[in-house]
Amino acid sequence: MALAPLLAVLAGCAPAALRSGLSAAGMPMVAGSLAPPGGGDLPDGTEVTAGQLVIHADFPLAGQHRLVRELDGLRTDVSQELALPVSDEPVHLYLFENTERYDDFVASQYPGFPARRAFFVETDTTLSVFAAWQDRIAEDLRHETTHGYVHAVVPAVPLWLDEGIAEFFETPRSDHGMHRGHAAYLAGRLLEGTWRPDLDRLEALAAAGEMTQDHYAEAWCWVHWLLRTTPERRALLQDYLADVRRDPATSPLTVRIRHQLPRGGDAAEDLKQHVATLTSVSLDR
Ligand SMILES: [Zn+2]
Repeated sequence: MALAPLLAVLAGCAPAALRSGLSAAGMPMVAGSLAPPGGGDLPDGTEVTAGQLVIHADFPLAGQHRLVRELDGLRTDVSQELALPVSDEPVHLYLFENTERYDDFVASQYPGFPARRAFFVETDTTLSVFAAWQDRIAEDLRHETTHGYVHAVVPAVPLWLDEGIAEFFETPRSDHGMHRGHAAYLAGRLLEGTWRPDLDRLEALAAAGEMTQDHYAEAWCWVHWLLRTTPERRALLQDYLADVRRDPATSPLTVRIRHQLPRGGDAAEDLKQHVATLTSVSLDR
């Protein structure tokens, strides 16, 4: 068998500093060619299967663990919200018992990788999530597992939308996609008068390393605006995903949104108003 490395795609998951909302500094992120998982000291203490998920953990983990049930249920939520079929392609979750074990694994298998609490890797043959068991494991696994569910059926999902969708579904289920951290951050930018939403700019992002906190927050906001305001916008996102699934070169969302706007409409202004409404900020228009 040829030993040529398989091409891998690393979703642009925000590193810990960004995910925690503590820093706006644009930490570099890696994308491009990565070896598929398989080497290194992978967790193999327990293996639990739940729907599409195959969970490998360092520690005993019951199939009925609340988080396992939640992640399994997320598959239906993602499918229904986005009108996507479910897939049977396994998504492997590798759970390390602590950050030391995880950091050692990342350093040996993905050297030069920036610090982050969890990440998703897609290769030609596998969908894998790696994470350390820590305080924010639930949020991290909801985010990364969403990448797995989406990539299993829409491998060509654009980078910004991939992250916007993952940020939407990383929130607790009872929040229905409302990401309070991003909403508060964008409201602050609105009040400063420094935020101008720009979907063209997001669509131009080619590498996860280019994504800053602004991009993650705005990507979430467009997804929330599309899914949670009008049935027409929701259908627009669903139709786009169905099309990009069949044809990665289908017309982009920016074009579709512009086409659907009323005369003189401005989606960027609508998005600012959406943040203002969500956060009860009054906006002079
Ligand atoms: Zn991500």
